Amino acid sequence: ATKTPPTYDSVKSQKPQVLGTNRAGRVNATFVTLARNSDLWDMVKSIRSVEDRFNRDYNYDWVFLNDDDFDEEFRKVTTSLVSGTTHYGKIPKEHWSYPDWIDRDKAKEAREEMDRKKIIYGGSESYRHMCRYESGFFFRHPLMMNYEYYWRVEPSIELFCDIPSDPFRFMKENNKKYSFVISLYEYIETIPTLWDSVKKFTGTHPEYIPEGNAMEFISSDNGETYNRCHFWSNFEIGSLEWLRSKEYIDYFTSLDKDGGFFYERWGDAPVHSIAASLMLKKEQIHFWNEIAYYHVPFTHCPTEEQIRLDLRCSCKPKENFDWRDYSCTKRWYDINNMQKPAGWSKKDD
Ligand code: GDP
Ligand code: MN
Repeated sequence: ATKTPPTYDSVKSQKPQVLGTNRAGRVNATFVTLARNSDLWDMVKSIRSVEDRFNRDYNYDWVFLNDDDFDEEFRKVTTSLVSGTTHYGKIPKEHWSYPDWIDRDKAKEAREEMDRKKIIYGGSESYRHMCRYESGFFFRHPLMMNYEYYWRVEPSIELFCDIPSDPFRFMKENNKKYSFVISLYEYIETIPTLWDSVKKFTGTHPEYIPEGNAMEFISSDNGETYNRCHFWSNFEIGSLEWLRSKEYIDYFTSLDKDGGFFYERWGDAPVHSIAASLMLKKEQIHFWNEIAYYHVPFTHCPTEEQIRLDLRCSCKPKENFDWRDYSCTKRWYDINNMQKPAGWSKKDD
């Protein structure tokens, strides 16, 4: 006997309605994405992943920021995919241009030199504005001012496991200010004088540096030099109120005056990471083992099989970056006396 295949309508009517079942305990938080209109289809993949693994049950808002106007297609498609309310903001010109103390000829020469040396994004002007914006401005965009926590999402990322509970709520309940999933070493060519600039700032403001910070994560010689470890900032869940604090703003302003966003190619990852490691207590920084994540070219996939099964993970354990030589996550475990999972040292490649 032949079987009738199910029709679209019959399948649709069987689909469980799960939208928004965990809205009740939400905190004041939003997803935030900096993107161009041309990033739309890569962004669609990221949104699907975030919604399927987490936000369909929570319906948190999503703020999109751009140095240009978002077009109709970008707004329409992203609004249809995000389960929460979407907001679209244009970045004010003053936050995406040269401050008056920057010598543009010198900046141009620096770009050309870095381009000749084949340093990644070394020749790009827009990338520098992007890094400076993410370092010092996104958290004070008018659309961000009403929120307490943010989760940064970039185009073409993937989440591989169900998110078992609300990370925003975890941040708030545990007084966490910054969190990460992948950490690694920065290319020294992009930040030759960053540490000098940081030391100048901490010298002027020793009162901003608390006992029990995570300095050991970023310096292996008690603050003399930067060991280039940083949290990979294409994923971040953090406190907007911390970024808007006098301490952080003074830090950013001081670095910005030194010009390295333009004369070198300082990334927002080392800038955020150094601030968090020096100005927070180490318990205020959190590593998410259970958030499995990909952004080209690295993956975080939990080492423990039981976690991967419980959370219906789809990542390949062999691709986990945590224990590879170029990762700083082992250092994070060591300085916090955290127990590494069984099997951690099996560095497959
Ligand atoms: P990478 O991850 O370091 O390779 O850099 P990306 O190209 O992913 O850029 C980082 C983030 O900034 C992504 O969310 C991009 O969509 C965004 N971005 C980069 N350049 C620009 C730009 O010129 N304008 C806007 N609006 N967004 C940008
Ligand atoms: Mn990216």
